[in-house]
Amino acid sequence: MADLFEQNAFALADELIAGRALSKEEFTVLIRAERELSEEKSSELRKKLSERALELKNMHYGNAVYIRGLIEISNYCKNNCLYCGIRRSNPTTERYRLSKDDILSCCKDGYALGFRTFVMQGGEDPYFTPELIARIVREIKQNYPDCAVTLSLGEHTREVYAFWREAGADRYLLRHETANEEHYNKLHPAEMKFKARMECLKNLRELGYQVGCGMMIGAPFQTYETLADDLVFIRDFRPHMVGIGPFIPAHDTPFANEKAGTLDQTLFILSIVRILLPEALLPSTTALGTIHPRGRELGVLAGGNVCMPNLSPVAVRSKYALYDNKICTGDEAAQCKNCLAGRMRSIGHEVVTARGDSKLTEQK
Ligand code: SF4
Repeated sequence: MADLFEQNAFALADELIAGRALSKEEFTVLIRAERELSEEKSSELRKKLSERALELKNMHYGNAVYIRGLIEISNYCKNNCLYCGIRRSNPTTERYRLSKDDILSCCKDGYALGFRTFVMQGGEDPYFTPELIARIVREIKQNYPDCAVTLSLGEHTREVYAFWREAGADRYLLRHETANEEHYNKLHPAEMKFKARMECLKNLRELGYQVGCGMMIGAPFQTYETLADDLVFIRDFRPHMVGIGPFIPAHDTPFANEKAGTLDQTLFILSIVRILLPEALLPSTTALGTIHPRGRELGVLAGGNVCMPNLSPVAVRSKYALYDNKICTGDEAAQCKNCLAGRMRSIGHEVVTARGDSKLTEQK
């Protein structure tokens, strides 16, 4: 019986590599096999997929790793996602907001270091009105017309997204978190709706953003089936970017005592996503680097091609704690970039300063 299951899983891996669209049930078998086969067999399965993922990544992007300068503009948030360290109800989060001048100064430093994408990320903080964000975006684009601006500021109306797009924002990251509605409801309070999240992603795409979605691997209540739902969703939605990192618990949240996601499963899913979307931009996340000292290098070898070093002022870095023990909270931006460049060189890759648009967009 075990042999049949194993044979089936390896056959499905071959079909995935050959480009066949697997069903949800078939993805479920593959995901289960990675977890439940013998250590020897599951690592063989991971290797098979990561080799193909790396090959496809190299085919489309060579050995380049794009860097994005991450600016964490505020850790205030009106929402209460159960997994998030900066959720509204976390009593121990020391709150901060960057001023417009702080943000522009991060961009100035980042530009001098070679960054050509700035990612403004933050909680859903009403202080940052649509007008204020638009003003900041306009100013960044005026000062650095050769740079891309990415926003990652949560759920907003179609009108607000359109307004920011007109102001010059190029890309938007909004993790879908899970493509399974029942699972979504277990990760979020009742006022947050799965359909609203999906509607936001649809609007962003229609407005011409390069769109990123994504999910945490090993999140509470995640099952093989919900992960299979994620893979089917990603394949069909065809986002330009997919952020995949391990779940890491955050203190003083309802999930503080849950287990973190594993390195192996995160890399496995990353490789599958690269195979599904060979031209996507796939970050090798800071969360991967947090659960393993060489997590970001391993993420690139599993198919990732983007890293997002922190450009936020060092004084606020540790306060933007979406999860515990986040790395790189003490180093200056220049140190982070150099450290990353060295890490990538150690695996035969080069950090590059190009804007790094998704090839999916270029083909449109
Ligand atoms: S995940 Fe985002 S929206 Fe949810 S509480 Fe955290 S910062 Fe706010």
